Amino acid sequence: MKRVPKWRDIEEMMKPGRLTRDGMLGSDPRPLEEIIESDGATVARLGLTHGDIARRLEELTAASMERLGDPVIVEETYEVRVEEARGSLPCPFKHPGRWRKAVTYCRHLPTGESIAWTALGVHMIEAHGFYEGRGSPFRLDPERIARLLAPRASSEKADPAEHNGIPRPSARRQGAGLEPDDRNATG
Ligand SMILES: [Zn+2]
Repeated sequence: MKRVPKWRDIEEMMKPGRLTRDGMLGSDPRPLEEIIESDGATVARLGLTHGDIARRLEELTAASMERLGDPVIVEETYEVRVEEARGSLPCPFKHPGRWRKAVTYCRHLPTGESIAWTALGVHMIEAHGFYEGRGSPFRLDPERIARLLAPRASSEKADPAEHNGIPRPSARRQGAGLEPDDRNATG
């Protein structure tokens, strides 16, 4: 893949202390394109799309939204709690719009394993196929998501061209209400 300056700019935004304190690339030495490509291959191998995974995360977040801050048992399998901080974050891929600083903490009761995601993280999965770099605190390993959260495959076909990290002007929105409609936002 040809490396265009855009990728460097995006990586710059993902460094610690830029958009977030810890950054989004962790200790991953691979270039951003390679991280996205590799996770994309994993997701395809799992028979899923980025949209399937994003929908599942939003579904679990939505299930506990009405009791913000308090844990809710969902599907008798997950203890889910949403915490919101003040403020919002822009997308490092330079979408217009901002994402609320909401973190969903989810504990898979049968195994006791925990997994957490942010509203921006869900957006980056859905729109960019980006799950953050290895070692990043909010790295969402697709295999781990598949194992713990059992996302369902939709009938919709994956289109790899849509997920090469190029900002899409009209990313799909699902009903969790965590994200602004970036088609109309001015950022
Ligand atoms: Zn974006």
